[in-house]
Amino acid sequence: MRELVIIGAGPAGLTAAVYARRAGIDVLVCEGGMYGGQLVNTEIIKNYPSYKSVEGWELARNMYLQAEECGAEFLYEGVLDVYEKDGIFTVKTDGGETECLAVIIANGSKRLKIGCKGSDRYEGLGVSFCATCDGQLYKGQPVAVVGGGENAFEDALYLSALCTKVHLCAKKITASEETVNTAKEKDNIIIYEGYYPAEIYGETRVTGLVIADKEKNTADIPAAAVFTALGQTRDNAIFAKIVVVDDSGYIIASEDCSTDTRGVWAAGDTRTKPLRQIVTAASDGAVAATAASAYIIKKRKSK
Ligand SMILES: Cc1cc2nc3c(=O)[nH]c(=O)nc-3n(C[C@H](O)[C@H](O)[C@H](O)COP(=O)(O)OP(=O)(O)OC[C@H]3O[C@@H](n4cnc5c(N)ncnc54)[C@H](O)[C@@H]3O)c2cc1C
Repeated sequence: MRELVIIGAGPAGLTAAVYARRAGIDVLVCEGGMYGGQLVNTEIIKNYPSYKSVEGWELARNMYLQAEECGAEFLYEGVLDVYEKDGIFTVKTDGGETECLAVIIANGSKRLKIGCKGSDRYEGLGVSFCATCDGQLYKGQPVAVVGGGENAFEDALYLSALCTKVHLCAKKITASEETVNTAKEKDNIIIYEGYYPAEIYGETRVTGLVIADKEKNTADIPAAAVFTALGQTRDNAIFAKIVVVDDSGYIIASEDCSTDTRGVWAAGDTRTKPLRQIVTAASDGAVAATAASAYIIKKRKSK
């Protein structure tokens, strides 16, 4: 029987592992892929405290090494199911089952991709998933945003303060009228409604994109970056049996990361929260692990 199982070795899970180990808790981290989570797909990070600029893989490695040095154990198997009986949780992975007293779900999220010619090739070379993170890299240059929701328009507004032109390409506009009108008032935001990206092109990095509508009318847009704002996907179906998830699939958890189920916390991008970033994921990991550690210590005493 383990004390704490952490699902996911991204910034939330790795920080949770450090805090729980420092509280003297036995920790097993289950990771279905590579440690680091979304960090490993991030070129440069410029908004994580203490680093002016750090490559994603380097930050991931530092977080992992710290957790390992603190004594966290790692099992590289994806979690397939979690169920509870008499206050004991069973975590089922590709390779077997582990019983534990408490669980922190830190399985993150995945950004939806554009899926046009060139979009994979230029990922990290101008195709970005985060305007707040990467916008500064394209200061004084024209950029494009793909998406028609609230986030796409917010990204366009954020980028309009940095970039010469922001071309917003939206198959369908679903953002609120107020946000759309605010964007329309900006001289440097150009909205292409009914258009989708047909090709992203460049040399070593992105230099532009071709967009098309359903009548096959096309436009060629010079852009140093293409910001993808098509939303996120979550793999929370397996957890929906033990915790409550909202309509978008996020695990409903309070600011203290507690869920409706005693003994289960949700940390990082996977939970309902206003800002999904590395620093907030790490913060959640610390908060969740501190609460889970207190819960486990109480359970130990009551045995
Ligand atoms: C391209 C890109 C650039 C970004 N740039 C920045 C930036 O500059 N600054 C910033 O602050 N934020 C940035 N972000 C956002 C930031 O990376 C995320 O907010 C952060 O990684 C969330 O951390 P997390 O631990 O909650 O989840 P994740 O990083 O998503 O990690 C979750 C982990 O859980 C694992 N997992 C999932 N399901 C299972 C399962 N069933 N069993 C076992 N393991 C599982 C995954 O493999 C993954 O390793 C960026 C994101 C992307 C995609």
